Amino acid sequence: MLVTLIKVGLVMHEYFPSKYFKYILIGALLVVVGKMLIHFIRGIAFPKTEWLINQYREAYERFLCPICEYPIRTGPRKYLFWTRRSVTKLKVPGDGSSQEESYTCPACGTGLFDKCSGCQSIRHALLPHCAHCGKKNEIEVSPSQS
Ligand SMILES: [Zn+2]
Ligand SMILES: [Zn+2]
Repeated sequence: MLVTLIKVGLVMHEYFPSKYFKYILIGALLVVVGKMLIHFIRGIAFPKTEWLINQYREAYERFLCPICEYPIRTGPRKYLFWTRRSVTKLKVPGDGSSQEESYTCPACGTGLFDKCSGCQSIRHALLPHCAHCGKKNEIEVSPSQS
């Protein structure tokens, strides 16, 4: 990777006058440093678990598996197809009533809806609270996810 960069740099140096080359280099450096800074600030603002729960929440809102983005096809959505973008335009037949049975993502095998240990209702397995009784579950951050 570094070798390619140096090669590209040398080629660019040949074709562009060094005055412009300097600006291009500075510009590229600024972009890289800026990106690192944003990454760093985000790390402070959202600790990993919170960030993860946020991702999960957004995925559940779109009826997509939080782990692999495979559509959560249950109830009236069983025969529909949607993506992250098209989910808001989706016309769901019936009342689109909420989840009533436990559900595992067929693509990656993650349990998405489970029985609550507090009230035996079906709850979001990857969100911290049960929607029915509010019982809190600890969300484990698996080390395989970065
Ligand atoms: Zn999945
Ligand atoms: Zn519950």
